[in-house]
Amino acid sequence: MFMHNKRLMYTVRVAEPNPALATLMLEQFGGPQGELAAAMRYFTQALAEEDPGRRDMLFDIATEELSHLEVIGSIVAMLNRGIKGQMAEAAMTEAELYMALNRGGESHTTAVLFGGAPALVNSAGVPWTAAYIDSIGDPTCDLRSNIAAESRAKIVYERLINVTDDPGIKEALGFLMTREVAHQKSFEKALYSIQPNFPPGKLPGDGKYTDKYYNLSQGSGDARGPWNSGDQWERIDDPERQMAVDGGDGQASVQLSAADEATVIAMAERMASTPDDPVTGAELGAGPGAGRTRRTNGADARP
Ligand code: MN
Ligand code: MN
Repeated sequence: MFMHNKRLMYTVRVAEPNPALATLMLEQFGGPQGELAAAMRYFTQALAEEDPGRRDMLFDIATEELSHLEVIGSIVAMLNRGIKGQMAEAAMTEAELYMALNRGGESHTTAVLFGGAPALVNSAGVPWTAAYIDSIGDPTCDLRSNIAAESRAKIVYERLINVTDDPGIKEALGFLMTREVAHQKSFEKALYSIQPNFPPGKLPGDGKYTDKYYNLSQGSGDARGPWNSGDQWERIDDPERQMAVDGGDGQASVQLSAADEATVIAMAERMASTPDDPVTGAELGAGPGAGRTRRTNGADARP
């Protein structure tokens, strides 16, 4: 079950209202790297997790992410607290109010449509979607995805910290950013607590291909590094050894029933191309700049 405590996880001290800054902060409220996405990611993973330790961790972190959602949402609400009252009470002239809500970004949408309340949209007004969550139900995959999600969230917080000089907001964002670092550390430990954890899943990779590096983009800029050279790699530069690597003919085939085979042949015959040179609509209407055409009307290559 969930319970709510009226104290925030981190105290929110906003120096002054700023609707344009509020819309930037929405990125971590309803955006793909935001707190709702993080909370739902770990909550849904926790529900299906069999390992008691990972299940406990996922519920702990999911609940913390909801607490982060509350912190970032409170920052948005405080930044919009001025425009909220001004919109509701028509406290200024029409022109002044118009100027006040067109402060940049999506701030006018936040004011007119949401009344200054934090909405589950990103900083460009795109609605939050469950498609942001890419859990697949395998802990070694999901933990890797969680590690990547935490690192992306950390970077978005870093960018948001860089666009405001409000010390209270900087401090709260710094806390939220730091907690994503801590979550990344927990997820890394949880991943490496599963041995082995690579490759993901139960089936082993095919030893014929696991250690090969196909150098498929060749030319100036070809580089060597630990990702394609050294003891772990057989690097394949020869194009002939990059095609039909299974030793087959490199063609696609399928066994069809006699009836299906006859149907496919009939279809192919009906839609076969001929070597005749047909006159096309492009040629009939061709003018200067059409290039070489057969029936021209003032075209470049007049007969
Ligand atoms: Mn968070
Ligand atoms: Mn996190």
